[in-house]
Amino acid sequence: MEYVFSPAEPVSLPVAGTEKRFPVRRIYCIGKNYTDHVIEMGGDVERSEPVFFTKAAETIVHTDSEIPFPPNTENLHYEVELVVAIGPDGVFGYGVGIDMTRRDIQAAAKSKGAPWDRAKSFSKSAPCSKLTQAKEVDVSKAHMVLRKNGEIVQASCVSNMIWSVDEIISRLSEDMDLQAGDLIFTGTPEGVGPVVPGDELSGGIEGLERISVRFV
Ligand code: MN
Repeated sequence: MEYVFSPAEPVSLPVAGTEKRFPVRRIYCIGKNYTDHVIEMGGDVERSEPVFFTKAAETIVHTDSEIPFPPNTENLHYEVELVVAIGPDGVFGYGVGIDMTRRDIQAAAKSKGAPWDRAKSFSKSAPCSKLTQAKEVDVSKAHMVLRKNGEIVQASCVSNMIWSVDEIISRLSEDMDLQAGDLIFTGTPEGVGPVVPGDELSGGIEGLERISVRFV
């Protein structure tokens, strides 16, 4: 096939223990999946249902990257999350992601009932660690931590998720045809907050590779 210009290389993530890379197809994200985060955002826990949204694959940022502070926001927030990577035969592996959010744009969108794309799917809004293969790790009770400039700002446990990884995959599959290469950001615990240029974020989940990025 001949294209009118060269197509972009697929976005990919490194896989721990191998030179082979995981080609990223789509990024699904879950909102409102930790009770304490629903509360801090002013939500109603009793009626809490998972919220689904997406980020473009091109929003992925690799660990140890510098991220230019994005335009049109004065309130850029971090949300550390377990990332599930779907392979040809179910869950391929896991990573640590940070769902960067232009919170001011999201708040305006929420108040108008407008889509979240500008708040969530902007350039370099999805830092994600190297993946660890599912056969090598059990993350179901793993502790998760996010540090800003070395200080712990988010600390929780994967077991605090309202909707488990299996339930999320089941619910998502009712709506769309999950494919090999899809990533799922599974939601964040409490403690979300802002970054400014110069800040460093470092996220970890027991048994997984770390994600570290710096804003410039
Ligand atoms: Mn999130």
